[in-house]
Formats: sequence, C-alpha cells, structure tokens
Amino acid sequence: MSFSALLRWMSFWLWQGFVGLPAYAAASCVEQNVSVQVLGSGGPELDDGRASTSYLIWHNNRARVLVDAGPGSSVNFGRSTAQFTDLDVILLSHLHADHSSDLPAYIKGAYFSNRQRILPIYGPDKNTLMPSTTEFVERLFGAKGVYPYLSDNLPVPGDVPNNTEKFTLHAHDIPLTHDNVVRHRLSPNLSVSAMAVHHGPVAALAWRVNLAGCLISFSGDMSNQWHKLAMFAKESDLLVMHNAVPEQTNAIARNLHMPPSEIGNIAQQAKVKQLLLSHFMNRTNNVQSQTVAIIQQHYAGKVSLADDLMHYKLGAFP
Ligand SMILES: [Zn+2]
Repeated sequence: MSFSALLRWMSFWLWQGFVGLPAYAAASCVEQNVSVQVLGSGGPELDDGRASTSYLIWHNNRARVLVDAGPGSSVNFGRSTAQFTDLDVILLSHLHADHSSDLPAYIKGAYFSNRQRILPIYGPDKNTLMPSTTEFVERLFGAKGVYPYLSDNLPVPGDVPNNTEKFTLHAHDIPLTHDNVVRHRLSPNLSVSAMAVHHGPVAALAWRVNLAGCLISFSGDMSNQWHKLAMFAKESDLLVMHNAVPEQTNAIARNLHMPPSEIGNIAQQAKVKQLLLSHFMNRTNNVQSQTVAIIQQHYAGKVSLADDLMHYKLGAFP
C-alpha cells in the first residue's frame, strides 16, 4: 500500500469512527418518533404489484427526508399524507429509472403545495455511463430540458439563494469515492452521509441519515464488491437493504446486487439493530421465507420485509 493510500485508508476509518458513533439509545428513537415509511418496495418490473424504490423518513409526524423517487412513489407519497412543504432533502442512490423517474411528478406537484423554501437534492456525480445529478436535474427541468415549463423551479445562476422566498430545487453531486464518506449537515438535528457503492458500471451511493440522533442507512442497489458497507452502516438503528437477487443467481445479476448471505453478513458485521429488506423482484418475491432463513444464519437481529406504505419505527421491538 502506498503512503497516500495508507493515509486515505486511515482517514476513512477515522471518519467512520467519528460519524459512525452509536446513535442514542433505542428508547430515544421511540421518544423522537422516528420511522421509515416505504413508498416503494419494488424494483423495475411492471408486474410485481409494488411501486418502485422510495422511502420517507418521518420525525414527529413530519416527513423530512425522501430517499429515491421510483415510479409510483409519488402516488404513495400522497396516500401517506406527507406534506411536500415539510421535506428537508431528497437523496438519490443512483439515477436508474426505478429510483428516479417520479422526480418530475414531485416537482410539478410542488406547485400546488405552499412550499416557499429551497429543497436540496443530493445524488451521485457522473461516471462514463451516467450523468451527474446536477446534469440529470438540468436535463429534466432546465430551460432546454424535457420539461422546460418547470424551469422556474431551478435556481437562477448567480442569484443569492433566499430560503424563504420560493421553492427551488438545488442539485448537488456527491463524489464517487468509496474510501471517503461525504457528510452534509442540513439542520441542527439532520445530517446525511454518502459513500460510493459498486453497482456494476452505474454511479451509485449508499446513504446514512442521522435524524435526531437516530441512524438510518440505505444500501441502495449494490454488489458490495468494495466491502465497505458494514463499516458505513455501523450500529445503525435501521439498515435498509435491497433483495433484488436470490442466493443462486447469474454473474450479471451478481455484479449488480448482493445475495441474501452477503446481506446477512453485512448486517451482522455492522451490528445494526434492525434490517429491512426491500427492492423485491419476482425472482425474490416468491422465496422470501428462504431469504430470511439464509440471512438469519448470519444475522441475529430483527429482519422485516418491506411493503408499500408500511411504517417501520426505530427502536420499537416487539
Ligand atoms: Zn433498482
């Protein structure tokens, strides 16, 4: 290992030690009334009976964080009774359609809300296959984008942002490094951290949200070929992982996703308090009991199966 690589390795683990400290005791998350609501528990298939990937993080009856915006999720956002005015941030794991294609529905819907402040959206930087998040937003909503009539929702270049005047969507790119964690503090009790994850050739991120001292981590779609998620998600109150492939799968799918045994190993190494499986596909929908059994060979904690609109409370154990 070169000296610079050693420094990067040390800074990664030191940083992890700093932001990955155990969250407050579980009871605190109950008192804080923090929960994850699933808006979409499916993948890209049309016939799985589920909306595609999306999650809301609630705090004291306010929906504060939207993670991914897969197709169908905006309908469930309405059903959830969440208010667009309450959102503090949108986080995108990657820009595959099953994670991002409802974004125009949210932005058009915002016109009919009373939102009068900036909404930041964070997602991956570009790579050779995918645009950056800022390019993605510009290609959708810019004056020369596919929805130019929504361009009022983007900031005017050079304007000083005014957080109380009107709704604008401010896009930010997260660098694609898997040996560094990027952290943004959005309010006194909300910070978000991202790390690049391996999802085949796709630019992709895992996210960790610290809300009122409660840690919620999201693997996004990933293969875990970089073996960093367990440390990134360390001692999370809830870890959401994607069950897109069964234990036996082909090499192409394995280059994109993790089998159940890998999910169980990560959850155990990370010592997460709860594991929520989501992003089901037809090939995993019909083997859920076998999947849970394999995971439980590795992970001793609570395993839940996501369903659309279900709430998963932090710190609440049966
Ligand atoms: Zn996906």
